[in-house]
Amino acid sequence: MPTGETTSMEVRGLAELIRSSGFTVALTGAGISTPSGIPDFRSPGTGLWEKVDPMEVAHIEVFNRDPERFWSYYRPRFGMLDEKVPNRAHEVLAELEARDMLEAVITQNIDRLHRKAGSRRVVEVHGTIETSSCVQCSASYPLERVDSLFDHRGVARCEHCSGPVKPDVVLFGEFLPERAMEEAQALARRAELMLCIGSSLEVHPVAALPATTLGSGGRLAIVTKGATPYDGDATVRLGGDVVEELEALLAVL
Ligand code: ZN
Repeated sequence: MPTGETTSMEVRGLAELIRSSGFTVALTGAGISTPSGIPDFRSPGTGLWEKVDPMEVAHIEVFNRDPERFWSYYRPRFGMLDEKVPNRAHEVLAELEARDMLEAVITQNIDRLHRKAGSRRVVEVHGTIETSSCVQCSASYPLERVDSLFDHRGVARCEHCSGPVKPDVVLFGEFLPERAMEEAQALARRAELMLCIGSSLEVHPVAALPATTLGSGGRLAIVTKGATPYDGDATVRLGGDVVEELEALLAVL
């Protein structure tokens, strides 16, 4: 059967929304990276996160008090994330940006996969594993350098001042980066369409961004499995696999 006949009404509706929008912004969460083999740590029983509660280990207080414990949890996670590659859903968003159909991607993910897929304007509101910084002198280290910084206790130490080095991701107990959040809020205000992908839209303050778009007269489209608090507000709601839904979308655009 030709694509035209198998494409759902919702996918066609989303394509129409994107075509008619003068300013579209994507907001992505863990669900866009699970097809790349990155578990959503909030889903129970997912491999690396099975044995520990990340909220208790990936916490700024643990980093400050017991960096050895923090890094024993975080170091393998670093290595695992570094090897992951973008999936088709990331690539579709990069393609939409290249076609001038998407202005920016706001993401809760720290995995760099949007950038690896070729997206140019990416606002990482939870930070990124791309760099780590010394908490004492602010020296910055790219991801590939971090592994060489560990001391015999398994703590990453600054080459200049021996201070503890922390990944530039937002840990539990930390505020979100101010500049990234301001940019995200400005994008949400300006958006005629916010395309929410793979996020439960429950983690604040990011969860308030769709309300900002709605409040300034924009529309919402949601592509994610599972319910979100905004389902009733969405003009289009797609609940299937994110890769399949976005591939179908690209095929009709
Ligand atoms: Zn330092």
